[in-house]
Amino acid sequence: MLRRTKIVATLGPATDDPKVLDGVIEAGVDVVRLNFSHGSSEDHKRRAEAVRNRAVAYGRQVGVLVDLQGPKIRIDRFRDGKVVLVEGAKFVLDASCGVNDGDQERVGLTYKDLPNDVNRGDTLLLDDGRIVLWVEQVAGVQIVCQVVVGGTLSNNKGINRQGGGLSAAAITDKDRADIITAAEIQADYVAVSFPRSAADVNYARSLLRAAGGHGSIVAKIERAEAIEDLEEIIAATDAVMVARGDLGVEIGDAELPAVQKRIIKLARSMNRVVITATQMMESMIENPIPTRAEVFDVANAVLDGTDAVMLSAETASGKYPAKAVASMHRICFEAEKQPLAMTSDHRLNTHFGRIDEAIAMACMYTANHLGVKAIAALTESGSTPLWMSRISSGIPIYALTPLVATRRKVTLYRGVYPVSFDVNSTDHALVNKEAIDELVRRGAVRDGDLVIITKGDLTGVQGGTNAMKIVRVGDLVTPQS
Ligand code: PGA
Ligand code: MN
Repeated sequence: MLRRTKIVATLGPATDDPKVLDGVIEAGVDVVRLNFSHGSSEDHKRRAEAVRNRAVAYGRQVGVLVDLQGPKIRIDRFRDGKVVLVEGAKFVLDASCGVNDGDQERVGLTYKDLPNDVNRGDTLLLDDGRIVLWVEQVAGVQIVCQVVVGGTLSNNKGINRQGGGLSAAAITDKDRADIITAAEIQADYVAVSFPRSAADVNYARSLLRAAGGHGSIVAKIERAEAIEDLEEIIAATDAVMVARGDLGVEIGDAELPAVQKRIIKLARSMNRVVITATQMMESMIENPIPTRAEVFDVANAVLDGTDAVMLSAETASGKYPAKAVASMHRICFEAEKQPLAMTSDHRLNTHFGRIDEAIAMACMYTANHLGVKAIAALTESGSTPLWMSRISSGIPIYALTPLVATRRKVTLYRGVYPVSFDVNSTDHALVNKEAIDELVRRGAVRDGDLVIITKGDLTGVQGGTNAMKIVRVGDLVTPQS
């Protein structure tokens, strides 16, 4: 049996060691994330190339996700690298303070307009909520705060406002340049950080297309406003990320579990892909095994129906990158055995607008009720396997396609596995036989198994799936010609 839930792992200094990278691939990573909040574009290009080379060596397909930094608002730096803030003390976020001149009283800001966005009475959360400041007064370019929760505050930590509402545009100048790099890298996915609306998502896609990039867009749900506009954002994007780090700071950590379930459910029902991210295996940055709570977190995301679970610092800078991936693998695999992970009421009451979607739905309904061993979807764009995978099932969906970009894209789809397959004939019987032979070669099916094949009129056009055929392996009659 194959694991269905996909694993996204962030590359970083820890995976630059070739042995570690190989370990991460061997442990079963499906998609790697290049985090553009850190490192140079050269670092990212080098990492993308390395992972693709090694994936080829292992006969695997690994997708590449570029994660844009976005308008993450940060403090500047301190003269001494850090300060300790004490509860009750005054502390000023000062847009006029020098970049390296922070001290016990004040620190600079990367986003000079922040003083225009906040008001007396606001709560600001620094360093993912570890430090809490209450805004006493805004005086020109200075935000005068009282320390509510103190502690050590070091250089470049992030700032969020509780409840959201900071106006910084989602695509920064750096993001514009990074989108060009993403196109050069031929990223399969480009993640937009802090989108507020569908317009932000559409704008990112238009920039990527203008730069020649083919990648799908991931909208990171990490602002309170994004929750308000959730349906519009999901409609505009190809995939969403439940970005629990920033989102938890903005809306409150206790709200996260319910919101995660809502986002996953809505994304799936709208035929979109969903990644669950942040702190899933946080303790494995330092330790070779996860905590019980982390085991439950990953398993619960699987039961919620996520397409993928994501690792951040666990693999980018942790001590045990391969072990973190291996742990996720076994937790997902076990969780997927639960009946809840295999049953579905997806779109039972909807009207299908497209023939190919209708075929995909009919295929899954049949597969789930007939005891089919595997599904072979001959596809150009990957849409048919995407629709199929919106229905929870235990049956593997093989995406057979000649297009490498499509094979890489489907690495993120739950229960979908990429297979290189060239259609060289317009004879359906011959193509069916070749598709089955390919699955037999992979050990996916054997004589006597039922397989469903979906395909179009074999013309190589997108969106053409209009047929499904159920065949028993071994019964295929060689075409008479
Ligand atoms: P980040 O996004 O790691 O880029 O901040 C994920 C999150 O906020 O959870
Ligand atoms: Mn974030």
